[in-house]
Amino acid sequence: MRGSPPGWDALSGYDQQRAVLAVPASHSALQLLRGALDEKVPAVLIATRSHYERIYSRFPWLYTRPVILDSWSELASRRVQQRLREMNAVLVPHGSLVEYLGWRRLLELEIPLLGNRYLLEIEADQHRKMSLLREAGIETPRTVTRPEEATGPVIVKLPGAKGGRGYRLATPETLPRVLEELEKLGYTREEIIVQEYLVGVRLYTHYFHSPIYGRVEIIGMDTRHESNIDGLARLPAALQQQLATEPTYTVVANTPIVARESLLATIISYGERFAEAVERETGHPPKGPYSLEGVVLEDLTYKIFEFSGRIVAGTNVYTGTGTPYTWLYWDKPVYMGRRIAMEFKQAKERHRLQDITT
Ligand code: AMP
Repeated sequence: MRGSPPGWDALSGYDQQRAVLAVPASHSALQLLRGALDEKVPAVLIATRSHYERIYSRFPWLYTRPVILDSWSELASRRVQQRLREMNAVLVPHGSLVEYLGWRRLLELEIPLLGNRYLLEIEADQHRKMSLLREAGIETPRTVTRPEEATGPVIVKLPGAKGGRGYRLATPETLPRVLEELEKLGYTREEIIVQEYLVGVRLYTHYFHSPIYGRVEIIGMDTRHESNIDGLARLPAALQQQLATEPTYTVVANTPIVARESLLATIISYGERFAEAVERETGHPPKGPYSLEGVVLEDLTYKIFEFSGRIVAGTNVYTGTGTPYTWLYWDKPVYMGRRIAMEFKQAKERHRLQDITT
């Protein structure tokens, strides 16, 4: 159990009425900025010079002013943090920011983060991540702790939010060799997790826990296109063998997907149970966007192999439109970037930013 360090108040000295959303470049920045614009919430873009010049300078109407950095580590500097605090900035963390800064530095930032920053720490550790899911009563794939326990294909995962990069597929026969290779690359056995490989339909569900409305909303779902596994699957088996290449799981793109309606009972209860388990474990609910990622098996069990305690890039598929689920809550086109801006606006007006930040 861990809460905010005693005496730590990220919002101290903030003028809540004048708070702005600070959106780091890349990942889901464009939809976050667009959502802020839809809700007339002021947004500041934080970008490295190269990101700014190559992408964000083409969309200047999406933000009030950019904070340009020479490198991401500058964001952790006193000077930049001070500047952001003077703007009353609330930072929206996403997967790329976790990768650029590392979860430790993100955890130590003296800027309020939209969401539950303590969840980012759990997310970075494959073992803690899976035990939180199990603690929530969510079905997960079997974890293989010793190579002899593997009875079928397994996926070997590396630590951190790497979008599937570097993951390896193994059989009970090849697993010892794969583990040895990864150890030679510098990974310790403790940081690697070996999981039963699930065969079914991949469903990545996007949730929003709203402290303002006191509920967990289901926002949407996506599925991913991964290289090279998706290309390999299109080859006949004989050609796959000739290529003699190992499957890899680098996320390249996402598409929307809608689950059969009867699955919603499981999906909703997973989202709610996850939010409760996060609060038990960290002392704070998820506060905003999170995602549960898994596979639906042929008996319709939904097994979750991963969660993200922040916005996921799969929500980009709905930028500017409603989703099959947000239309059920709102009479306007709501996507994750906009939903975040809606909650932020309400929290500002009610002087409740402490409820949606850590
Ligand atoms: P992750 O980083 O855990 O989201 O995994 C990256 C990709 O690896 C996923 O999008 C899936 O395609 C695949 N994957 C991860 N875990 C499993 C699993 N247990 N069974 C089957 N595929 C998996």
